[in-house]
Amino acid sequence: MFCVTSLSAEKAKALAEVAEEVAKCSRCRLWSSRTNPVPGHGNQDAEVMFVGEAPGYNEDVEGKPFVGAAGKFLDQLLSVAGLRRSEVFITNVLKCRPPGNRDPLPDEVEACSPYLDKQISIIRPKLVVCLGRHSASYVLSRGGVRVRSRAGGTSISVVRGQVFRVRFDGFEFLVVPTYHPAAGLYNPKLRDKLMEDFLSIGRVLRGIREGSIVI
Ligand code: URA
Ligand code: SF4
Repeated sequence: MFCVTSLSAEKAKALAEVAEEVAKCSRCRLWSSRTNPVPGHGNQDAEVMFVGEAPGYNEDVEGKPFVGAAGKFLDQLLSVAGLRRSEVFITNVLKCRPPGNRDPLPDEVEACSPYLDKQISIIRPKLVVCLGRHSASYVLSRGGVRVRSRAGGTSISVVRGQVFRVRFDGFEFLVVPTYHPAAGLYNPKLRDKLMEDFLSIGRVLRGIREGSIVI
């Protein structure tokens, strides 16, 4: 018989194993400057995963994602979508803080992304929300969606708020990219756009739950 409890327990165990691997990892240079690894945190049965860029100062100190100012704003945004932190899973493309919060380097994304891939495969979310350009660029390209700006990267202002359907490791889910919450902290225009996108994320989730959107 299909047993929900033991499936949840297996998923939690598999996620804990990923976190242990991350704690021992030295696959890129960020290992030597981090205080704590930040593998990710949340519900193994989450319908929605949020993927940011990399830990910042506070996350590096606490070992948990989005605990600083951007995290407080993310909590507000989650409530706009009708979500609580306890029902979602939050992680980043990079699990260790880049010094001075600089952008992730391509070889760091290449070294670290297998951990995110594993987390997605374990949780099997219905929806992945990408917070910022680096997350959108990785998740969309990994899911086979090519969105390129003239400069070559993923233009977050073009893809933000759109709903993409991707196939990954043999299963399908939706991806909604939006701006990074930190971008909305000091920019009222981006703040409004983030609010808009989180309202639409709430609508997509209701559609999934009510069956009008079939994954
Ligand atoms: N910014 C991110 O991208 N991730 C965090 O966990 C915190 C800030
Ligand atoms: Fe390993 Fe990722 Fe940390 Fe680099 S950032 S050391 S790949 S866990």
